[in-house]
Amino acid sequence: TLNLKHIRQNPGLYEQNANDRNYAPFARNGWKILEAHEKLVAQQKEAVELRQRNNALAKELKKPEEARVGLRSILLDEAKILKGKLAVFEREEKEAQDEMERWALELPNLSSLQTPVGHEPHVFRYLNGDAPPTSRGTKSHVEIGRELDLLDFEASATTSGWGWYFLKNEAALLEQALIQYALSVAMKRGWKVMTPPSLVYGHIASACGFMPRDTNGETQIYNIGNQDTTGPSLVLAGTAEIPFAGSQANKTIPESAVPLKVIGPSRCYRAEAGARGVDTKGLYRVHEFTKVEMFAWTAPPAASEGGFDVASDDLTPSEVVFNEMLDIQTEILTSLGLHARVLEMPTTDLGASATRKVDIEAYFGSRTAIDQGYGEVTSASICTDYQARRLNTKVKFEKGEVKTGLAHTVNGTAVAIPRILAAVLENGWDEGRGGVVVPECLRRWMPGEQRFIGR
Ligand code: AMP
Repeated sequence: TLNLKHIRQNPGLYEQNANDRNYAPFARNGWKILEAHEKLVAQQKEAVELRQRNNALAKELKKPEEARVGLRSILLDEAKILKGKLAVFEREEKEAQDEMERWALELPNLSSLQTPVGHEPHVFRYLNGDAPPTSRGTKSHVEIGRELDLLDFEASATTSGWGWYFLKNEAALLEQALIQYALSVAMKRGWKVMTPPSLVYGHIASACGFMPRDTNGETQIYNIGNQDTTGPSLVLAGTAEIPFAGSQANKTIPESAVPLKVIGPSRCYRAEAGARGVDTKGLYRVHEFTKVEMFAWTAPPAASEGGFDVASDDLTPSEVVFNEMLDIQTEILTSLGLHARVLEMPTTDLGASATRKVDIEAYFGSRTAIDQGYGEVTSASICTDYQARRLNTKVKFEKGEVKTGLAHTVNGTAVAIPRILAAVLENGWDEGRGGVVVPECLRRWMPGEQRFIGR
């Protein structure tokens, strides 16, 4: 199911793309596939000749005895040698094909033309004002959480170690309110709710572009191994994107059902290897959190060649859903009263499966020393057919000569609780009253429509 032909025909493009995206160890994979394929073609040609000779020999051996007196043992010997050679060819062909598939799997998706090359994102919009609010203080959610008995990092240090937390009282309730609020915004637009399993097979995670090991050899995924000795190994999903994408593996979606749009909360697990340092305190970077995730399957674009978008003025079906995800993210963050900036992310920041990624960074009063206080709170990616190709998810067309095509997939955060909770606590802190103002859009989900969290 991998697009070996496209890779083989454009090895230079794949090399450039891998280098632009910081995938240097895999940059030569396109060339390796090209070389292996050339060798394979030469071998296949030789195998055809051998098979022809084999058929001729078989014919010869079927002739009446007197026509080939004295030749029988010579012919039989040759047939045996041929059989051995063909068996080797077949084994080598399978090995070469498996190897080419492996190299293709390691390659990241091709970046879209909108994606800036390099390390710098492009800011294209601000939410709730063009600059951070000057009226807000710098008190951190860790202090607020301690003062108002909302967060406990000491208990979690005892139970689980660094990067875990207990949410208490209104913080625990705000988590539920944020989930309900985010679902309500998307449901209003017709999104269907689905809650996924937290554990997924390792091969499903890989097919979605989440390799068990990253390029530094560090794993970002908790692998819990094989619990039932007969099945494949299970991993803890880092995002609902994985089980959502996997839910349509080996399925064909009728054209009338796309775009198929789902949203749901899940627990997300991140090893965050090598990520200690500035973010060791608080909720900003943790190992387990709740995230409400949006996921969609769309029809492949009409103006598509071999599954890859070609320049076109019309929006692709994926871009339409992607823009809707950005609208939902914008609506949520704006209503929560958070100042934020919308960024087109550069090639080095894209996950393996994305062709394009837009992040929104909210302003955290306590983090002004890092990126002027801006920190990522949502992310949305278009994955073209990268995941569907690996998972074998198709769309069945109702008209036309082509009956099916690979689906395209799109994913985006509706709300990732810990960072939003931190931003809401910091942004809502009222020094005079010594408490936090609950954003209006969340009040209907809080007991007694609570407006203020005080001592
Ligand atoms: P990602 O799936 O990595 O694009 O992340 C989606 C969102 O989840 C980010 O925009 C963050 O808001 C949040 N997030 C990611 N990793 C963590 C983490 N380790 N701790 C807390 N929130 C996270």
